[in-house]
Amino acid sequence: MVSVVVDYLRHIESDCVVNNVGELADYIPELAAVDPDRFAVSVAVHDGHVYSIGDSSLEFTIQSISKALTYALALSLRGVETVDAHIGVEPSGEAFNEISVDARTRNPKNPMINAGAITAAALLLAPGDEDGTTDVGDVDEAFRTILDFYSGCAGRRLSLDDAVYRSETASGSRNRAIAYMLESYGVMPADPEDAVDLYFRQCSVRVTTDDLAVIGSTLANGGINPRTGRRMLDQVVVRRVLSVMTTCGMYDGAGDWVTSVGLPAKSGVGGGILAVLPGQLGIGVYSPRLDEHGNSVRGVRACRHLSADLGLHMFNVA
Ligand code: GLU
Repeated sequence: MVSVVVDYLRHIESDCVVNNVGELADYIPELAAVDPDRFAVSVAVHDGHVYSIGDSSLEFTIQSISKALTYALALSLRGVETVDAHIGVEPSGEAFNEISVDARTRNPKNPMINAGAITAAALLLAPGDEDGTTDVGDVDEAFRTILDFYSGCAGRRLSLDDAVYRSETASGSRNRAIAYMLESYGVMPADPEDAVDLYFRQCSVRVTTDDLAVIGSTLANGGINPRTGRRMLDQVVVRRVLSVMTTCGMYDGAGDWVTSVGLPAKSGVGGGILAVLPGQLGIGVYSPRLDEHGNSVRGVRACRHLSADLGLHMFNVA
């Protein structure tokens, strides 16, 4: 069985690695320093077993894939009502770093664009319950909570890439502008500098495709990590996160992705993609050359393969 699956993944690899289209993200200088030819695919099945090929133990930064996880954490710690009062769930159809908000509420349109993701991070910094049980604290403490949560979903201890974090911090004017714009509208729940700092740190967490696959299988499994048996999220939160990933997870390429691949997913400008087949699979892919939307070119191709060959599109009717 193992060799059949791995042989099949190698077949995808040989089809994808001949494609050299796309560009590295270079607006964060450190991201332009990676080897553009690296490629990996990992698939975690329902019992948590991970099948992988390529550079599946190579670490890269999670970048925007973190948006789905921090949103999940904010929903868990702050509750759906509080989060919904600050962040919408409507696709924006705009680039991830567009400085845009809902015209009526002035809240970010969804948690997968930067404005929404920075707000989700800010919600972790805002005061919690009156009894203090959901207080997270300052940026260091909030980041520890984030790292513990991501690590619990991945089933191993994750760490921060300091060089990428410093690079993001040094080149993050646009994200700071977004945070201050939200503050000027009266919808930023924490200090804008702290919120952006926490967001930069979460984007700079190192993962492998094996990690992404296990995180995906935790979501696929209703919030329980199938490798550790630990419940990381309530099912209600998982359903919400997967819904938003479906409509908003692939930047302004989300519609094309849903029609062709048909899986809830989130990509990051580091070159990773996390995809989920609810009830069954978590998928992690990595290849750092990006298309015009910011999605990994080979990663999208690999996921199209998996979806078509294995009949994974969630709207397949038998
Ligand atoms: N840290 C990146 C930024 O906000 C994440 C971007 C992404 O992966 O889309 O600029």
